[in-house]
Amino acid sequence: MKSSMIAELKDSQQKFFSKHKNQPPKVRIQYLKKLNKILEEKEKEVHEALFQDLKKPEFESYTSEFLMVQKEIKSFVKNLMEWAAPKRVSGSLLNFPSQDFLLSEPYGTVLMISPWNYPFQLAMVPLIGAVAAGNTVVLKPSESAPQTSKILIEILGTVFPKEWVSVVEGGPKVAQTLLQQQWDYIFYTGSTQVGKIVAKAAAEFLTPVTLELGGKSPCVVDGTTPLQKTARRIVWGKFLNCGQTCIAPDYILVKREHKEALTVAVVKEIENAFGTDAKNSKDYGRIIHKKHFDKLEADLKNQKVIYGGQRDSKTLYFGPTVVDSPSMESSLIQDEIFGPILPILSYDTLEDMEAVLTQLKNPLAFYVFSTNKRFINRLIRNFPFGGAVVNDALIHFTNTNLPFGGVGNSGHGAYHGKYSFDLMSHKKPVVKRSFWFDLPQRYAPYPKSLSLLKNILKRL
Ligand code: NAD
Repeated sequence: MKSSMIAELKDSQQKFFSKHKNQPPKVRIQYLKKLNKILEEKEKEVHEALFQDLKKPEFESYTSEFLMVQKEIKSFVKNLMEWAAPKRVSGSLLNFPSQDFLLSEPYGTVLMISPWNYPFQLAMVPLIGAVAAGNTVVLKPSESAPQTSKILIEILGTVFPKEWVSVVEGGPKVAQTLLQQQWDYIFYTGSTQVGKIVAKAAAEFLTPVTLELGGKSPCVVDGTTPLQKTARRIVWGKFLNCGQTCIAPDYILVKREHKEALTVAVVKEIENAFGTDAKNSKDYGRIIHKKHFDKLEADLKNQKVIYGGQRDSKTLYFGPTVVDSPSMESSLIQDEIFGPILPILSYDTLEDMEAVLTQLKNPLAFYVFSTNKRFINRLIRNFPFGGAVVNDALIHFTNTNLPFGGVGNSGHGAYHGKYSFDLMSHKKPVVKRSFWFDLPQRYAPYPKSLSLLKNILKRL
């Protein structure tokens, strides 16, 4: 899309917003209901698109994409009237008498740039929040999931006028052109590297921005939990969508004396899930494109592969792979893996373990498998991360009552349910006064002595 067309689109959304910014929330609820209806009609096509783009098994595309979107709509339909209502807050005695309240106001035109790994729900879930809060949206989905982009265009185009919601297809160049416009809010999901480009572009106009980025999510195992069940949950979280999940366990960090047993359990669980040759499993996905396949292949160079490693660049098959103790300098440890390679590191002392977690700081997710309360608390209190799960993986993402987002390198700003509504609304504080009382001392000429005033104010 040419930059003049992008400018026109932005302009038309700006005009639409100015005209409709005070539209009552119940109108938006009607649109969300319509969206839900169209989704139900198009469910099969959504699964097909996700299969074509990522070879996602229908079970995965339903549970980790489609259902998430439906749940988000349901939550907004149920709660939007309450979330959007003005909120009374108690007034300050300094201003007595007054009525103090907060108004939730949409920002205006929102630009959303989304990734390819969960291309349906990572576009739709934030979009639902933005639209429900009263914003307009231009969505640029990932060029790497073109079939999903098509179905997004079809669904959103059926429900919303294009001045309200538009999908613009294209790659980094189009994203850059979009970023040259002045938006009222930018919501970006993708890599940390591109996140920095987006943040710089947003800074140019002082546009508020949410960055949903990646990182190295650890899986700490102290050996006090049942190892087979522990392995089953880690394997599920790691190899879902072929490891291309932003909150997938990136690496295991296990107490040395349990490493061997856990490794055996991990291999057993991989085979329980996908058989001895995952290539033939209908439940195992593929790598998104050759570039990412090559990156994963390069990550395996000079590594001690103790399970898997089979791959085929033609079909983008990359089997579940387990690597023993890569060095801290290797790309497997330095960079986010974002694929089906699971390194197993070990630790002897708590200090060793904490040194690794400190080096690979600010992950998007943090997983600890333990029954030891002190151990769990020490970890979840001492380390910053986007979100944590104790004794499981990924599942915090599914609770719309919890905010989802990163910290530091893994991003800033969080969404889902009410958190999306708050993120996408500017909170306008308003203080309303009457004229029947005034503290005369506030006006000049001021009292000569402050002591009486100080005495009163101290008690307020
Ligand atoms: P990416 O950063 O390559 O692309 C994401 C989006 O940015 C795409 O729409 C792409 O077209 C656009 N883009 C790419 N280069 C650009 C540039 N130079 N300027 C402007 N826009 C550009 O990310 P990806 O490969 O699609 O996704 C993988 C990464 O995203 C991983 O790091 C993963 O952890 C992260 N991720 C995070 C979350 C989250 O919720 N925090 C979710 C999914 C993925």
